[in-house]
Amino acid sequence: MKKHNFSAGPSILERNVIEQSSQAALEINNSGLSLLEISHRSQDFIHIIEEAQKLTKELLNISDDYEVLFLQGGASLQFYMAALNFSKPDGIAGYIDTGTWSKKAITESKKIGTTITLASSVDKKHTYIPKNIASKEKLDYLHFTSNNTIYGTQFHSFEELSQLAQVNKAKLICDMSSDIFSKEINVNKFDLIYAGAQKNLGPAGATLVIVRKDSISENKHLPTYLNYNTHIEKKSMFNTPPVFSIYVAMLTLRWLKESGGITSIERKNKEKATLLYDEIDRNTLFFGIVNKEDRSNMNVTFNLKNKNGKHQFEKMCKEGGINGIHGHRSIGGYRASIYNALDIESVRFLIQIMKQLEKTIQ
Ligand code: PMP
Repeated sequence: MKKHNFSAGPSILERNVIEQSSQAALEINNSGLSLLEISHRSQDFIHIIEEAQKLTKELLNISDDYEVLFLQGGASLQFYMAALNFSKPDGIAGYIDTGTWSKKAITESKKIGTTITLASSVDKKHTYIPKNIASKEKLDYLHFTSNNTIYGTQFHSFEELSQLAQVNKAKLICDMSSDIFSKEINVNKFDLIYAGAQKNLGPAGATLVIVRKDSISENKHLPTYLNYNTHIEKKSMFNTPPVFSIYVAMLTLRWLKESGGITSIERKNKEKATLLYDEIDRNTLFFGIVNKEDRSNMNVTFNLKNKNGKHQFEKMCKEGGINGIHGHRSIGGYRASIYNALDIESVRFLIQIMKQLEKTIQ
């Protein structure tokens, strides 16, 4: 039985994409060879990576001032790589701390240079997005995490941070691991965007990097792999790229385009999120964990008001084939990740269980 997959990442992929990927693992383009056993320099693979790059540019409306890269090491390597490439000797880097992932990025930046936290939501356990952010210092760059996968908060506008970066003449860097391709964004406001693939893009293994070419200064002393220029010059083919992950990403992007592009998926994502948050607010047994205006449209965090229903709710979820609903081990409760590929029917199914639980318990 196919489950309702609410996993936070790696997460649900579109069914056709999985079927086509399985086929490619057996044989690609009637070549008598598996995608997994052909050279990454072969025409078959070159076409795949070029299509993935082209689709990324088309879907997000990215100009030729930017390079789209598929690298390895996950978003976690980007924490360090971004700081390494964007910090200047004796410069200062500014970060917004919205929880675990931002903190990890801050830790890496501190290994490279002076790093300040301009704003943090730690005082309220990361249940909100900081606002009215200012910087007294001149910054090399400003870094933030657009969607906090663990706590379930999301920046619904980038305007404030983009203006702050502009006034400060700082570069703007964003970790969009858990909401890239989920809504319209204006890439022109950014110097660097990065995202691990394993939520809205494909399986783990590839890391998407969108970098503004003229934002990167020449620095030959950086380790070769950690220098964005290496990958820009070699068009993501400096070393063997994660071919299977890139192939699945390309298929996912094709699916996204065929199903109406970003405008359409954004509308569907809002619809799913609204349905679920409305039920959390209506249902007498549940409550939402984060500030209403900062609620994520990707990761919906909630909990039971009273632990009485815990056993029953989890049993009903399990029997109904719901997967991945547990909150992150650091905060507990529940988290429904409702990424692009999750059908609205799965959200309706979860809501039905919540309603049933309410009837059973009262
Ligand atoms: N940033 C965010 C917002 C994430 O959600 C994650 C992973 N869940 C990471 C960074 C780390 O990504 P990776 O595992 O690809 O290093």
